Amino acid sequence: MHTDVKKQILEKIRAYDRILLFRHVRMDGDCVGATKGMKRLIQLTWPEKDVRIIDDQRSDFLAFLGPDDAEAPDEVYRDALGIVIDTASDDRISNRKYALCRELVKIDHHIDREPYGDICWVEEERSSACEMIAAFYAAFREELKIDQLAATYIYTGMVTDSGRFQYEGVKGDTMRLAGLMLDQGVDTATLYAQMYLRDFEGLKFKAHIYQHMQITDNGVAYIVIDRAMQEQFSLTMESASAAISYLDGIRGCLCWLAFIEYETPEGEWQIRVRLRSRFMHVNTLAERYRGGGHACASGATLLNAAEIPALLQEADAMVKEYKETHEGWL
Ligand code: AMP
Repeated sequence: MHTDVKKQILEKIRAYDRILLFRHVRMDGDCVGATKGMKRLIQLTWPEKDVRIIDDQRSDFLAFLGPDDAEAPDEVYRDALGIVIDTASDDRISNRKYALCRELVKIDHHIDREPYGDICWVEEERSSACEMIAAFYAAFREELKIDQLAATYIYTGMVTDSGRFQYEGVKGDTMRLAGLMLDQGVDTATLYAQMYLRDFEGLKFKAHIYQHMQITDNGVAYIVIDRAMQEQFSLTMESASAAISYLDGIRGCLCWLAFIEYETPEGEWQIRVRLRSRFMHVNTLAERYRGGGHACASGATLLNAAEIPALLQEADAMVKEYKETHEGWL
């Protein structure tokens, strides 16, 4: 599947001396694992190539995967092949210097509304971008070299983006490719501890979310994490955003939302919405509020808190309609 485009990408990688890897803003386990995994595969196979990830974002949760490379002058970009992974539209690429690269490859598993780049490999049905990197390795395993570290990066993103292999994108191929990574000796005990242990204060915040979450008439669970709550628990944007996962798993709530207040670099206060769903889809709702994403995991932006009731009302109506027209939901 998609063999030709994978071959084209391999040939581009072979042809360039320098390859720069890019990911999306608000990094997550998938885009970090995929870029680091791809970098490692290339470096192991072609040690003479200059392969870098230049990104000034930081993540406390993902710090265990190690730092990225230092900022570099524009000349470094100009003769490079850029590979952007896990980023649906080019406005969400974190390092804006991506545009200086001589050629650009897009590798992604999001709904492809805004194709960009000279070569585009998009598989919307893949559960993670890391699954695609694993598939890339599997397709050319006669040539590509892998080791425990590369496999650990790739496996990390496969685990995080699939909710530990529970979301609907997970197929037999996902598990076969995950198995291929585990065969390289991934230390899962340490990896899961690094990913899922929380400190004491983090659990207090979780308890606070459970005390303050709300539910609409038809079953949309939601929480508003405003500035005051962020100050109370000394939250970073990243730790506040994690609250969305606390709301999943409520019987009858087919959709759950977290509204997180944040300050833009321009000093304006806006609200980031994280939308999640089960059975029904939320990406069209996200698209109506300056966002998008996957069928069951999307993001959106509200310009102010006055938009919250409208979005909630739409989400509630969607859940109502879904429940009235479908059977078997839980
Ligand atoms: P998040 O809740 O930020 O993890 O977003 C869930 C999914 O929706 C991710 O795969 C993002 O790529 C996508 N997404 C988030 N925010 C936006 C946005 N403003 N526009 C388009 N897609 C988004």
